[in-house]
Amino acid sequence: MNDTARVSARGASRWARGHPWIYRSDILELPACRAGAVRVLDERGGLVGTALWSPASTISLRMLTHDDVDLGPAFWHERLEAALAYRRRLGLGEATGPSAYRLVHAEADGLPSLVVDRYGEVLVAQFLSAGLERYREEIVQALDALLRPAGVLARDDVPVREHEGLPRRVELLRGFVPEEVEVREGAVRYLAAPWSGQKTGAFLDQRENRERAGELSFGHALDCFSYHGSFALQLAVRAESVVAVDSSAEALARAEANARLNGFAHVRVREGNVFDFLRDEEAAGARYDMIVLDPPAFAKRRSAVERALRGYKEINLRALRLLAPGGTLCTFSCSYHVGRDLFSRMLQSAAADAGRTVRWIEARGQAADHPEIVQIPETGYLKGAILQAV
Ligand code: SAH
Repeated sequence: MNDTARVSARGASRWARGHPWIYRSDILELPACRAGAVRVLDERGGLVGTALWSPASTISLRMLTHDDVDLGPAFWHERLEAALAYRRRLGLGEATGPSAYRLVHAEADGLPSLVVDRYGEVLVAQFLSAGLERYREEIVQALDALLRPAGVLARDDVPVREHEGLPRRVELLRGFVPEEVEVREGAVRYLAAPWSGQKTGAFLDQRENRERAGELSFGHALDCFSYHGSFALQLAVRAESVVAVDSSAEALARAEANARLNGFAHVRVREGNVFDFLRDEEAAGARYDMIVLDPPAFAKRRSAVERALRGYKEINLRALRLLAPGGTLCTFSCSYHVGRDLFSRMLQSAAADAGRTVRWIEARGQAADHPEIVQIPETGYLKGAILQAV
């Protein structure tokens, strides 16, 4: 039987309302056991459910169920099967569809602190809490049974693991995972780097936005914060020329390989700081028909929001000035702490200062395989806008 934690009324009501996290400050009685599964009771001894327990973290409990259950192989199999069924309903997993996408989006799939991304035949997982770490073998076994992957890699080299008292490492858990995997995404193909690339090898959350930007692309296009040419490749399908800017030489080397892979001779890469690049282009009187801004999260903490907004405004203002009449801006923010409202207000202010009339074409979010749960705001972080400078 599982060991027990006792939580305050506030902690219990959070889960009753659909949010799985119970903070240290809402724990009345800590479990005596090491990290793993615990039974959670309220102040009066009533059952709250079963949770993953992280002794070192401020998020002490991650609730999994409202019942007292045994977290045996069947439990993980069932949760993972439900996550796969959701992706199948989205049409993912078909031979002609994208070959890389997210299979498990943690809390949003009832699997708190677990990420699993699929890159064709291989899976890349992240185990992001001490409680979950205990069930690594059960989870990999269930993935094996459900998907028969050629290999499973754990990209556990992420800073959040330190808050959990867990080591940072990259570990092959099953089979074979190559250095580079070729991914099919709409009309293009690209190489992702599961062992060494950012996140699990690529930014899968932007997949639908990249394809949409590709559909709308024309003329002279610019992809800022391009990483391995991600948006640039999609833009190149319809644009006459594409410039991909990033500060990482390693990412741009793969961007060039990716352009060659698609036979795109009209994609050029530029290594540098986007802030400087945009300023220089403006000074040089350059004009673009299509610009993408997909910066890294400028606000990693709430206290950084104000400074982040100044950064977002600067690049958006400059990009709007660089747009030819009728040109399109696809602009994004992946800062959780900059919500949709703040993002819209930032755009309003950038448009006003740019002195352009700016038309909303579409509001955008993260791809549907990264579902956002209404009661768990932390599951959503990516927001975007497709705008036209009239
Ligand atoms: N658009 C990409 C993801 C971009 S991630 C995709 O869809 O896959 C952010 C990228 O910005 C990283 O590749 C990082 O190297 C780059 N970067 C961060 N700060 C930068 C800066 N100031 N100037 C240029 N590139 C920057």
